[in-house]
Amino acid sequence: MTWNSSFDVVVVGSGGAALAGALAAVARGLTVCVVEKTDRFGGTSAYSGGSVWLPGNHVLERDGVDDSVEAGLTYFRETVGDRTDPTVQRAFLETGPVVAEFLENEVGIPLEHRPFPDYFAAPGRKDHGRSIFAKPITAGEVGPRIDDIRPMVPADQFGIEMDRRVLDGGQAWIARMLLSLDASGRAELHLESAAESLVSDGSGRVTGVVVRTAEGERRLHARGGVLLAAGGFERNTGLRQDLQQMPSADWTSSHPSTGSGDAIAMLRDVGAKLDLLDQAWWCPATLFPNGHAVFTLGLRAGIVVDETGSRFANELLPYDQMGRALRERMRAGKGDGFWYIFDDRFGDDLPAICAPLPDRDAMTEAGLWHSASSIGDLAAAIGVDAETLVETVDRFNRFAANGIDDDFRRGEDPYGRFFLGAQTAAQCLVALDGSRFHAVRMVLGDLGTKGGAVITGDGAVLRSDGNGVVAGLYAAGNSTASISGEVYPGPGTPLGSGMVMAYRAVADMAS
Ligand code: FAD
Repeated sequence: MTWNSSFDVVVVGSGGAALAGALAAVARGLTVCVVEKTDRFGGTSAYSGGSVWLPGNHVLERDGVDDSVEAGLTYFRETVGDRTDPTVQRAFLETGPVVAEFLENEVGIPLEHRPFPDYFAAPGRKDHGRSIFAKPITAGEVGPRIDDIRPMVPADQFGIEMDRRVLDGGQAWIARMLLSLDASGRAELHLESAAESLVSDGSGRVTGVVVRTAEGERRLHARGGVLLAAGGFERNTGLRQDLQQMPSADWTSSHPSTGSGDAIAMLRDVGAKLDLLDQAWWCPATLFPNGHAVFTLGLRAGIVVDETGSRFANELLPYDQMGRALRERMRAGKGDGFWYIFDDRFGDDLPAICAPLPDRDAMTEAGLWHSASSIGDLAAAIGVDAETLVETVDRFNRFAANGIDDDFRRGEDPYGRFFLGAQTAAQCLVALDGSRFHAVRMVLGDLGTKGGAVITGDGAVLRSDGNGVVAGLYAAGNSTASISGEVYPGPGTPLGSGMVMAYRAVADMAS
């Protein structure tokens, strides 16, 4: 094979996992090439809230959070169980604090803790969570690199102008990691460079990557290894239908040009073991007239019903669990359309966290928002049985009057109260008794798929024939079968596990 360039490490993708891996490489004195398929760095990670779940890290300790790796491990084991390899789970949990130290003290990314409750009532849970965030960074500090960073969903998918004078959340992570890589002098970062295939030598060892650029094909030699951190396949219609029976690949939160599932194809080509292909980081999402579906959480009032007009879950469940409830309804043949029903006490806006907020007029015109002066009329407008919907609302209003949701215990869990700033369950139960009622269409969305390569505790990709690993190939983030299996234990699990396993992968390449 004739190579165009040679590096110690080649990283495919430029989200949180990819850039953390690249930083681990340059910190070890290795050369690294990061290839990103689209015209912006950051992937879905740039859209994210930037919460990184790493139990027992020094930032939590600095902020007085009483936590430890063992407490985190207890919680993780309680929630995930044996669905994934316990040695890999331990490797992730034990390396989390190491990565937090590395990022702040070696790379120089200032970190802070922000409260965000864990998602399950299980031993080891932290009601204030164990999330850390990169501190916000100003556009001035970021400089011209800001134009290379994928902007947030409202700007990126809806063309809404956003204030980018201060980058926070996932934007801050991506900006800070890019700047550190630039400053290292050992990293090449290329946009519009799509990895098309992996190159293997006669022994089956992956030795490099073939990349498609505007100038043509480039063959990149990876002396130490290739880190596949190219995200998931949430935008791949065929894979979503075949593996997940999803009616649409547009309901995901990722950008249409990311989440293409290229990693899955490359992994299949080299005989990698794959798992959790039917899984995603699920969430409820508001369907917009342009076909995009936007992650929606923190419902301040109202109820969610299925096509029969019935409630089926605690609307304040952590979003992945609410998404799973939607998925179960779909699987039970209750349809794929859900309605968020609320009254007019909050004015014209959707009473929930959703960025961007939907425009009522445009939604109404598209048949995604209906309004009526009675629940019966609203039922007729959205095509659900009026008697059932009236009974559902009456029953919920009785719960609101009593301050207890006898059906789904809404507001009784700290997570449910968190976004509402509520102290009691009763504050989370607001009767639907206004003078006008609204119904907004919701669908099953996701924050990315979470099925892919099964990796070892060192991030190496296992072979499907059971004969060890695909030498030279590592994977992290949504290109892998998530270490958390079918559950989403706490805020920042996708980024946290991706960044840590990318770090471990590079450590293994260098060993
Ligand atoms: P990505 O960040 O998607 O990066 C993959 C990159 O690989 C993309 O840029 C893609 O274009 C590129 N790529 C794909 N194919 C190729 C190819 N062939 N060649 C080269 N490049 C390729 N998670 C958290 O942990 N904490 C949060 O606070 C959080 N908040 C969220 C908020 C929102 C609104 C959303 C939408 C998601 C949130 N998530 C959060 C989920 C999280 O952002 C994603 O699951 C995670 O970022 C995936 O990271 P990744 O590195 O695997 O992939």
